[in-house]
Formats: sequence, structure tokens, C-alpha cells
Amino acid sequence: MTTTWHELADKISPRTGLLIEGRFQDAGEAFSVIAPRNGKSVADVSFASVHDVDKAVASARAAFEDGRWSKRAPAERKAVLMTWAELCRANADELALLMALEMGKPAHEAKAIEVRAVANTLAWFGEACDKILDELPHTSRDALALITREPAGVVGAVVPWNFPLTMAGWKVAPALAAGCSVVLKPAENSPLSALRFAELGLEAGLPEGVFNVVNGHGHIAGRALGEHPDVDVLTFTGSTEVGRYFLDYAAKSNLKRVYLELGGKSANIIFPDADLDKAASTAAWSIFFNQGEMCTAGSRLLVHESIHDEVVARVSAIASAMQPADPLSDDAAMGALVSKEHLERVETMVETGAKDRAELIVGGERVNADSGGYYFPPTIFDHVAPDAYIAQEEVFGPVLSVSTFKDDAEALAIANGTRYGLASAVWTQNLDRAVAISRGLRVGVCWVNCYEEGDMTIPFGGVKESGFGRDKSLHALEKFFDLKSTWIQLSEPS
Ligand code: NAD
Repeated sequence: MTTTWHELADKISPRTGLLIEGRFQDAGEAFSVIAPRNGKSVADVSFASVHDVDKAVASARAAFEDGRWSKRAPAERKAVLMTWAELCRANADELALLMALEMGKPAHEAKAIEVRAVANTLAWFGEACDKILDELPHTSRDALALITREPAGVVGAVVPWNFPLTMAGWKVAPALAAGCSVVLKPAENSPLSALRFAELGLEAGLPEGVFNVVNGHGHIAGRALGEHPDVDVLTFTGSTEVGRYFLDYAAKSNLKRVYLELGGKSANIIFPDADLDKAASTAAWSIFFNQGEMCTAGSRLLVHESIHDEVVARVSAIASAMQPADPLSDDAAMGALVSKEHLERVETMVETGAKDRAELIVGGERVNADSGGYYFPPTIFDHVAPDAYIAQEEVFGPVLSVSTFKDDAEALAIANGTRYGLASAVWTQNLDRAVAISRGLRVGVCWVNCYEEGDMTIPFGGVKESGFGRDKSLHALEKFFDLKSTWIQLSEPS
């Protein structure tokens, strides 16, 4: 790009209303979106009331029932999703900048990683639209049985701020590909990118009412979607704490299906026979990338006791060199934490962690405070007891805890010793060990000699208190279909 992110930021004028029935509408109360990079307001955005959520759900329901999307030929739905993907790519700078402004990640990373991801997601599920098959099982000759996949109806999608568009895309693209209508609630901190994303969807040809966006508070708009009697499926990504509420909302309302992608406390397990250079640099990246605000962050580093000093020295050197900077700078390796409240939470967790069987060896204190922004540097705790506070609680910041193990059994026991089960990685050149450890890990995603690898063909999600249900891949489509069995009795064949 020829203009700088700063120049673009001076010119940008974000959408701020709610998207209901294909129109952006100002709702009753407006709240400021604060830029984590400097603590200043970016825009005042309408936040939905319960009544506004009702309107959005009614709009989605009307669109679903009259078939303007749900009954369209799959090839036509595909064309719209593919065009939407192209429009995201064509507007990559603007989408990336909005994410950098609203939640503090480096704009260049948002463009290279996140805009690309959401465009790929739309294109992948768009391409899938006309390749979904129903089933016609063998039955006796006097009957015909059909198993058909029918769009489930109105989908509520509630997403977090850490990957605002990736998370939205993982919900919205398969739901729309299946023929459902959607009401998306972005996180309080990150409505701006969601609104522009939605606007591009309209431009791509989404009929009005099929995709609605209700910015708003979790306990008001998120809850209203969760409790709504006319929402058929609720797909959520966020904290384990809020995930519990959604099960409760469903139980108290219409027993809607709920899918939860929740928190994590993932382990990177490094054995002495690993490629230590690659293992250590990837371990650092896995916890400091995206300011550590990542559900799959490799927040626990488990190293064999014989290589502890060497691995810790390597990871510490990377951590010390990798300092947060203005997300609008093109060489920022890390940006700012999402909000003042989150910065304070991370500070408190680091203080608490230091008191419970852990030694703070790198970072630990806020930096760049003069900017008015919320910057926290890479931070490392060493010699952490596996059941200590900092090894058990999800910080959702750039904070790593290092523990040692003696043998494979102990590595596995420590790795599995949290309430979470989202992801883990194992580093070893020994194939037998790699397979044995990955089989023993109670996680939804396991990496061997890599981290964060995967593409849209591979499902993503957790076990235990990291949730259930899967985003990405053809499995994600299953959430948005109802299976119907139709049995047709035939006359006796002559
Ligand atoms: P959060 O749970 O606070 O919020 C997520 C969403 O839920 C937001 O839209 C929020 O407004 C809404 N919400 C909050 N309170 C609510 C309530 N009472 N009722 C209904 N909705 C409510 O999470 P966050 O701080 O935005 O994101 C961080 C969390 O998300 C971390 O725990 C992280 O691990 C998790 N996460 C998980 C995945 C995954 O795929 N497993 C991916 C990204 C983030």
C-alpha cells in the first residue's frame, strides 16, 4: 500500500448502526469504541436493546421463511459468498485497519492473516454450497427412504474480539452456506470490522434480512439472542464462564442447539530430541503472537528437565526482543491489549501468579504508558508448579509459564492437568513418542513439531471445558442442518 496506516486512519469513517433488514439503523444508546493503541475514541456505535435484538431475529426469521436465501439454488448462494470473499480481499486495508483500531492488533498482521482468513472461509464454504449431498439408503423394494439436510433456521452467532473477523467468518459462512439466516453479535470492543464486513456482504448480493448485526453488551444483546425463543441454533466463541450462560439460556428458553468454542491453557511439550531452535522460536510465537490474546495460545511450556536452561534462554531472548508497539506501525510485532480493563486484569493475574510457586524472569509490567494505550510486554514465569495459579488460569495475554518434566508419563499428566482441552503441541523427532503423546492428550487439536497449522479442511474446537462443536471443515456445516428422515411406502412392485 502507498498510504500509511496512519493516513488511512485519519480518513476512515466507520459504520456505526445496527444492521437489521438490510439497513443500518441507529439504535437508542451509543457507546464509544476506544482504540487500545492510545485510549482515544474511534467512533460512537449503537448498542442493541432487547427490542432491537427482537427486530433482528424477526428480520432473520421472515427472510428464512419466505425462502429468499434458504430456498435459493445452492449455486446462487455460492456465487454470493464467493463475491463476498473477493470484496473482503479488495477492501483488505480498510478491514485490517478497523481491527487494529478497535482491538489493538498490528494492522499489517490483521491484513496478512485475518482478512485473508475470513475471505478464504467465505470462499471455502461458498464452494461447498453446491457439493452437499443428501442420502438415499438401501431399503426393501416396497419403500423409499430419504435422509435430507435441511437448513436449521435462524442462527445466533456471538463472537469475541481477539480475531473479530476470523471468528465471525467461521460461524457466518457455514451457516449461510447451509441456507440459514444469521444474527451476529460482535464483541463490545470490535463492532466496526463486523459492520464493514456485513456491508460488503450486502454489496455481494445477500438479500436483506438474511444477515443481521446487533452490536451490543453481552449481558443485554448476547443474552437476548441466547434466550430468544425464535433462534434455532446458537453458536458461541468466548470464555468458558460465558459459555455456561448460553447453556442456561437455552435450557430456560426453547432448548435451542448450542455450540461452544471456549478458553484454553495449551501446552507446548518439548523433548530433548526435538529441533530445539524451531521448537523454542515457535513456542515464543505461540504465546506472544496477537498479544497472547488467543484461545490456542501456547501458554504452558513443558520442557524436559535436561534441556530446561537452553530452551528457557532461547525463549527469553526472543521475548525480550519482541516488544509491543503502535499497531499502525508496519514493523510492530505485537500491538496493544484490547482494553484498559483487560490490561488491569492481566496485571492482576501476573501479580497473583508471582505469589504462587512461580518465578517471574521476563517482563511483568506495563510499557508505553505515555501513549495512553494498553501495552503489556512478553512475560515469562519459570519453575512454575503445574498446579500453580499461573499454570492453571487463562490469562489471555502474553504470559508464559514454564514447567519441567522427567519422563513421558509426567509430561502427559501435566499437559492434561487443567480443566481445558483446546490444543497442545508435542516436539520430538521420535515418531513412536509423538504418536503416543498425541494419542494421550485430551484436546481437540494436537500439533506435532508445529503450532497453529491447519487449513479450512481441518475441524477446530475443544474438549472438556474448552467446549464442544467444531468450527471449520465440512463438520462445521453439520451444526446448521437438521436431518430429516422421510419414509415413503410404495405399492407392492408388480
Ligand atoms: P467473553 O466470553 O467475555 O465474550 C465473548 C462474547 O460473549 C462477546 O460478544 C460478549 O459480548 C458476549 N457476552 C459476554 N457476556 C455475556 C453474557 N452474560 N451473555 C451473553 N453474551 C455475553 O470473551 P472475550 O473476552 O470476548 O474473549 C476471550 C475468550 O474467548 C477467551 O476465554 C478465549 O479463550 C475465548 N476464545 C475461544 C476461541 C475458541 O475457538 N475456542 C477463540 C477465540 C477466543
